Amino acid sequence: MLTTLKHIVQEVSRTPGLDAALNRLVTLVKEAMQVDSCSIYLANYEQQQLILTATNGLDQGAVGKVRIGFYEGVIGLVGQREEPLNIENVHQHPRFKHYPEVKEENYNAFLGTPIIYQRKVLGVMTMQQREMRRFSLDEEAFLVTLAAQIALEIANADMLGELIQSESMALPSGQQVINGVPGSSGLALGIGVTWNQQILLSTLVNRRHKNEAYEIIAYRDAVEITRAEVKQLSLGLDESLPDDIKAIFSMYDQLLDANSLGREVEKRIKEGWNAATSLKLVVEEYAARFKAMQDPYMQERAVDIIDLSNRILGYILNPTKKPREFPDKPFILVADEITASMLAECPSEMLQGVISINGSQNSHAAILARAIGIPAIMGIASILPSLLDQKTLFIDGYSGMITISPEPQQIREFRHLIAEEKSLHERIDAMSNEPSVTLDHHEMHLYLNTGLVVKQELADNDNIKGVGLFRTEIPFMQSDHFPPEQAQYELYRSILEANPDKDITMRTLDIGGDKPLSYLPIVEDNPFLGWRGIRVTLDQPEIFLVQARAMIRASEDYTNLQIMLPMITTIAEVKEAKRLLKQAYYEVKEELKDPLSTMMMPKLGIMLEVPAVVYQLSQFAQHVDFFSVGSNDLTQYLLAVDRNNPRVSSLYNSFHPSVLAVLQEIATQANKLEKPITVCGELAGDPAGAVLLMAMGYQKLSMNAHNIRKINWVFRSIQLHHTQQLLADVMSLDNPDEVKIQVDAFLETHGLGGLVRAGG
Ligand code: PEP
Ligand code: MG
Repeated sequence: MLTTLKHIVQEVSRTPGLDAALNRLVTLVKEAMQVDSCSIYLANYEQQQLILTATNGLDQGAVGKVRIGFYEGVIGLVGQREEPLNIENVHQHPRFKHYPEVKEENYNAFLGTPIIYQRKVLGVMTMQQREMRRFSLDEEAFLVTLAAQIALEIANADMLGELIQSESMALPSGQQVINGVPGSSGLALGIGVTWNQQILLSTLVNRRHKNEAYEIIAYRDAVEITRAEVKQLSLGLDESLPDDIKAIFSMYDQLLDANSLGREVEKRIKEGWNAATSLKLVVEEYAARFKAMQDPYMQERAVDIIDLSNRILGYILNPTKKPREFPDKPFILVADEITASMLAECPSEMLQGVISINGSQNSHAAILARAIGIPAIMGIASILPSLLDQKTLFIDGYSGMITISPEPQQIREFRHLIAEEKSLHERIDAMSNEPSVTLDHHEMHLYLNTGLVVKQELADNDNIKGVGLFRTEIPFMQSDHFPPEQAQYELYRSILEANPDKDITMRTLDIGGDKPLSYLPIVEDNPFLGWRGIRVTLDQPEIFLVQARAMIRASEDYTNLQIMLPMITTIAEVKEAKRLLKQAYYEVKEELKDPLSTMMMPKLGIMLEVPAVVYQLSQFAQHVDFFSVGSNDLTQYLLAVDRNNPRVSSLYNSFHPSVLAVLQEIATQANKLEKPITVCGELAGDPAGAVLLMAMGYQKLSMNAHNIRKINWVFRSIQLHHTQQLLADVMSLDNPDEVKIQVDAFLETHGLGGLVRAGG
């Protein structure tokens, strides 16, 4: 029985598309269990119905047509009771309801079981038989186990909007609502415009050439035109864009360098392949390497390489290609894979938002959309872009929802929402350079979280006090080997010297957990409780020392470097890290051979992420200069909830009363110990979180660039003593939802309601 089950689940999960997978499932079950019929009814919560979605044994014509109310018939009863129903003669059951379309007159025995995922009934699965009998306990156990196993597949399809897409679930009047992943917040309305790539590397047929010199020239010319095009696009980018966005285009520039892609492509041409094929062969190899990496950020680099190469290919095949044309009315760009260069090519006055069929929150498209302030929805893999072409689309970048062909009265409502949102942003932007001071004159200090080069952004905005968290692992993850000391030195130096008057807090390498390095694979059963953060670098002191030397060397002539240690659990770890830092410091100092050098030992801090440290805070305070709360990990460890596991994501909540109590305890103790303390987890960039943290006594908050303006506006709109009253009230509540409701209501009464609707 177990083998049959395994075989069925494996085969179903290999079948692409939900409808096909469910059809395969009912057929396999019917054959394996030797019953006369097997069917699946999926729940539609909007219409409160269970809809026959797949069957082998009932009439095929009834699929999508038979819709059973949640409280109707034996099918409804299975869903309602959330337990299996095993009946010898279904026709005699008091809840039996006859649906002539299914043609089940000859079936007597009935076994139905609910399909449940995370407490939600997704559907009902049934087996039926002519013979009048009760199904055996084994048969019942089989169906229950199978339903539990396929629940995840169905839940995933539901999240991808595939259920809605299937014909049986289509909404009336051609209007449809589908869900993706929010990539950039905001609301937009416009015509869907698909980006058709005429010639693609992936569809190119490999060909050999007859004239090597000609092919090399064709390749080099195409690279030159592409380089000019990329340059043009990057010049067109708004000057105010963050440095990490500009970095995307310099990466394109590096790839176009003759020593990078060029050398390998020309090698293939010399092997006899024509220019286009050579490019294809090289790029496919590169992209495969990136795609194979576990880290989603690195996987995204494959998209960039392919995007750039498709541009080069276009010019190899057609050197006089004309520029693309765009509609002169508001539009939403839709593509399988939206890339940064596509966005740069669109006229910014008309581009309202983007939908990337593939991609994630880490995609450059999502980062760029956030930076230029347009909504983006990512990852709706079950939809073909052509389905959205030339249709009116409303996208909600807060929830990830797309409304296709909305009704006229909905369009009016959407326009109203967009206007409200615009005026909110205007008010936020108008205040962005004003200091973060509350109405009762309490000053807050805002810092930046980053992992990429930040120079201009920081230098230009007086309101950003410095970098509160530089995640050094990001440059490590972008490389395919440990970056040598000199490369690290140059990166760190460039940041310190661009912002000599602002504190730059660099965290030592924090890998492990959800941050793997392709060149240091860590395979563990419990990665978040395993070899992570400081544990790795103390066990591999050579990695720690190289990084410490690079940071300390970079700080020569500057006093703005602070070093921070991640995942600290024991005093011994701090002592050992200090010993290594001192070693690095004296080595560097000696190498400088400059008796006049005033180079100082940088300030040292630890991240408060592991609950154990909270109970030893006064002891840690004797060894370090500052603390920084990593509320992301602190929440994860305090609540014992994996921060990346969608199954328990509803339990991961930084507004949990225990998390708030610990945060309050940390602030009180740190202030008493007179140790500077920052919060650098996501909570600091969330309006509701920032308000509570200020009330607790935190004065320094560090967050992503796109949250800084918003949080500044929040502080400038409220009074410290009101937030202290709010905090006193919420501390007596016993569940996170109530806390959130109360804080949101507070924001609402202070004219910050727009941020609440926008989901923070
Ligand atoms: C945290 O844990 O809150 C934190 C800022 O570190 P990271 O998210 O990089 O683990
Ligand atoms: Mg952390």
